[in-house]
Amino acid sequence: MKARNAGRKRPCGPGQFYCFRCREPRAPAAGMVDYLALSPRAGNLRGLCGSCGALMHRRALLGSIATVMPGVAVQIVQAP
Ligand SMILES: [Zn+2]
Repeated sequence: MKARNAGRKRPCGPGQFYCFRCREPRAPAAGMVDYLALSPRAGNLRGLCGSCGALMHRRALLGSIATVMPGVAVQIVQAP
């Protein structure tokens, strides 16, 4: 019955994270995410699932934040 959705092989599109609890791509709650820098050029985006509230992560290049998270308020968090 859910075969129609299962056929789509897109883990997550722009503005979305893959939520492991929902097992579906979800938009971040409140349109807000954190960016934790792992290196000068890349880091992890972190947000809360807008559907179930679970923590979601997604790798991203610093320069691609605007592309992968359009319209999302990204808070840059400096790693200690
Ligand atoms: Zn979820």
